Amino acid sequence: MNIQMVDLKGQYKKIKSEIDSEMQKVIDSTAFIKGPKVEEFAQNLSKYTGGSNVVTCANGTDALQIALMALELEPGDEVILPVHTYVATAEVIALLRLEPIFIDVHPKYFTIDVSQIEEKITPKTKAIVPVHLYGQCVDMESIMKIAKQHNLFVIEDTAQAIGAYFTFADGSKKQAGTIGDIGTTSFFPSKNLGCYGDGGAMFVQDNELAKKCQMIANHGQSVKYHHDIIGCNSRLDTIQAAILDVKLKYLDQYSKARQNAATVYDELLGDIKEIKTPEVAAYSTHVYHQYTLILNDSIDRNEMQTFLKENGIPSMIYYPVPLHHQKAYRTDKNESFPVTEKLSKYVLSLPIHTELTSAEQEFIVSKIKEFLKY
Ligand SMILES: *Cc1c(COP(=O)(O)O)cnc(C)c1O
Repeated sequence: MNIQMVDLKGQYKKIKSEIDSEMQKVIDSTAFIKGPKVEEFAQNLSKYTGGSNVVTCANGTDALQIALMALELEPGDEVILPVHTYVATAEVIALLRLEPIFIDVHPKYFTIDVSQIEEKITPKTKAIVPVHLYGQCVDMESIMKIAKQHNLFVIEDTAQAIGAYFTFADGSKKQAGTIGDIGTTSFFPSKNLGCYGDGGAMFVQDNELAKKCQMIANHGQSVKYHHDIIGCNSRLDTIQAAILDVKLKYLDQYSKARQNAATVYDELLGDIKEIKTPEVAAYSTHVYHQYTLILNDSIDRNEMQTFLKENGIPSMIYYPVPLHHQKAYRTDKNESFPVTEKLSKYVLSLPIHTELTSAEQEFIVSKIKEFLKY
């Protein structure tokens, strides 16, 4: 058995002829930058999201940065985000000389704890960046209520949850990333919709704001060599767009495969009392970018990871050091975030991807049970 965290090769093999032919077409056309496929993919992705404007860019980190730039936040403005997230979310805030304001996460769902947001809002607060971590939506209904009340922008970091759905109290549903002012996503190869290099996009609700994001991604110009605002250079390559346009057709199928794998894990791991399997909030679907366990403190996580590794089973820790303990993001506020601190010690993500077989999962769980002497 060759178990991987993500099996990109296995996934490619199944769509090889389509991908190869689309890539070859781009090479034959030599339209490597801003080729027609970029716009075509943006249109198809827009359709997929139910009509959001889609602005493509070079990666998910740029998408967050361009979103913040487009909203014209000023240095010193405060931006609220979860402390349990990938560094990119905080990085772009700090890079633009905005003030990241960390909030702890919900102990069951690992996403920003909405009940702790309002106490951190000050006159300088301008935006909230909820992160749909591991593949399930933040409680967006509460986020939007708070944002409206305090006149804040909402930028959804959807890098891990493309294709997940949020259900509002009235029963209506919206896709992750299409609820706030701007949703940002990443096409990093291992993401749920991954290309064969770097890529990213923004889902923008307002047409004018979408134009502005587009301009910023393109050196602040809408007419060549006429630079109206300060921008950057952030483009999705045509080859990546061609690959993504093929893979987008399979995205729902890919989400389903991940959900099925999660169900198999849930069943196989259900009787191990030292391990907590992921919980899904009633308001969200889960697209399982990660399948993340919480181990109880009787388990030595290091030893368990080593044992699994010796048996050919990879596992990962997302994330081992909370942002407020990172050298670059430490503040003198001396804050503590008990849930995030606990998660950094006890989480463990198991392999999950579109090609994972139940035989592989049975093997993985049998080794976990062997380690725990079940
Ligand atoms: C992957 C990721 C990003 C950054 O995406 P890149 O394309 O690697 O720049 C941002 N936020 C979260 C939560 C991510 O998982």
